[in-house]
Amino acid sequence: MSFLLKSGVPASSVEVRLLPEEADERTADDGAPTIAPAPTTVVRGARVLLIEDDPHVAQAMIGALARHRYHVIHEASGSGGLRTAYAQRPDLVLLDLGLPDMDGYDTLTRLRAVSDVPVIVVTARSDVRSRLHGLNLGADDYVVKP
Ligand code: CA
Repeated sequence: MSFLLKSGVPASSVEVRLLPEEADERTADDGAPTIAPAPTTVVRGARVLLIEDDPHVAQAMIGALARHRYHVIHEASGSGGLRTAYAQRPDLVLLDLGLPDMDGYDTLTRLRAVSDVPVIVVTARSDVRSRLHGLNLGADDYVVKP
């Protein structure tokens, strides 16, 4: 754990847990004193706000992010995404451009007015104009959906 703290991980994001097997061994114990199991350090994943209206794409991305231990908050609309971004202050926003209630560019502009959270635009729009527009509005990166 001290290694994590020295490498700049905030103490509030480090959680100490027992491994399930070790917890089981303790409950199976006959009451004799035992050596405490070594604590396991788990760094909680960064909180990623995914703003994506396509349920299939959202499901695939949530699965992939969760496997990499990111904590995903999902919103399917621009307005919902903005509300959650204000309220929950995620560490990263993944933003789809084709949203049902407002264009992703508008979502990005409104978000940028109040927050400097890193934003990665994730979209099917691959043309250079769209990329430049997204980056000019304050996106940190631009990923084209396969
Ligand atoms: Ca979409």
